[in-house]
Amino acid sequence: MSEETRGIAILGSTGSIGTQALDVIRDQSDVLHVEVLTAGRNADLLIKQALEFRPNVVVIAEESLREKVFDALFDEGIKVYSGTEALAQVVEMEGVQMVLTALVGAAGLQPTLSAIRAGKHIALANKETMVVAGEIVTAEAEKYGVMIHPVDSEHSAIYQCLAGEFHNPIEKIVLTASGGPFRGYNSEQLKAVTKAQALNHPNWDMGAKITIDSASMMNKGLEVIEAKWLFDLNADQVEIIVHPQSIVHSIVQFTDGSMKAQLGLPDMKLPIQYALTYPHRLKNNFPRFDFLDYPSLTFEKPDFSAFRNLQLAYDSLSKGGNRPAILNAANEVAVARFLKDEIQFYQLPDVVEHALKNVGYEKSTTLDALVASDLEARKIAADFK
Ligand code: NDP
Repeated sequence: MSEETRGIAILGSTGSIGTQALDVIRDQSDVLHVEVLTAGRNADLLIKQALEFRPNVVVIAEESLREKVFDALFDEGIKVYSGTEALAQVVEMEGVQMVLTALVGAAGLQPTLSAIRAGKHIALANKETMVVAGEIVTAEAEKYGVMIHPVDSEHSAIYQCLAGEFHNPIEKIVLTASGGPFRGYNSEQLKAVTKAQALNHPNWDMGAKITIDSASMMNKGLEVIEAKWLFDLNADQVEIIVHPQSIVHSIVQFTDGSMKAQLGLPDMKLPIQYALTYPHRLKNNFPRFDFLDYPSLTFEKPDFSAFRNLQLAYDSLSKGGNRPAILNAANEVAVARFLKDEIQFYQLPDVVEHALKNVGYEKSTTLDALVASDLEARKIAADFK
């Protein structure tokens, strides 16, 4: 890499991806440094991170916590801002070369667009942004000459398989799915599952929203839409296969029938490091995969009838327009309501389907139209009984 270290802004530094990204930066401090850290409400961890990594600026989205963060960091010469609008401003700062979008939900959209328009490369963890406005985000990235490096392990796998192959046509890609804690359950069995079970993912330790999305398979549905935009594919070129060991992270098949897959232990630090240090592969101490520890890697068909979110996501992608934005917004509300014990697990797809039926179809994908559909879907999902 070049002599200068790459300045990173982490949106959502206190979350699962954010904290693992800081572990990567700590280990790769010869080439990476932190320019900006942002959090939603976890002021204590944000302060601790700022004191260790000495960013230029921090943002706490929750306005009422600004004073606490300011008092802790003012004497250290670290600037402190608050509010969600500040997220979209700090990503534009001169010292920032790359923005890691590691916050949850459609809240990531505006800061991602600001970063792109300021010419900053993106390390994209926040898949919801691509689901809501993939067409706009990819068009803006092209216009401003910005690269979007996927962090999601499946998309990072595809991205890594495509290195050196960018001009070779893709026949299809296969996204692997662990199947989550309810793999093999039928619709009846899903009626009895608890919140604690849904929050207990077999292979990955992640934030609450994506953990529930993984249990309901909506995560894979969102990933199908994310893949469409990242790799310029049609819905029928993106397949899903259940692979409970989470070792094969995804597969590309080219037009000659040849397949390439990327393998490794389920550890998000690897795709995070690849995105932050792209195109370099730097030495690290992450645990290594050994085939002899996994004598059997298995693959199964996903169950679209028990996990209805999968079909809802494919249908939304095929129909296009505002459908993916509605799907995402309703799902965000459904997951929040499930975590507050307002609805049962099996009702998650019901909420999404209800919103898809009740928000009018809009072909237009202007930002204003998508934001309006998002808001309407949230309201309908919140009223679902
Ligand atoms: P977490 O819930 O662990 O962390 C989310 C981060 O975003 C926290 O720093 C949180 O702040 C902050 N945040 C949440 N809401 C807002 C908001 N409205 N405004 C500003 N900041 C906010 O999530 P994850 O790290 O698990 O996931 C982040 C993204 O990465 C998601 O889009 C997810 O789908 C994607 N992803 C995650 C993977 C994983 O392994 N975790 C794997 C692949 C993709 P605070 O905690 O301070 O309130």
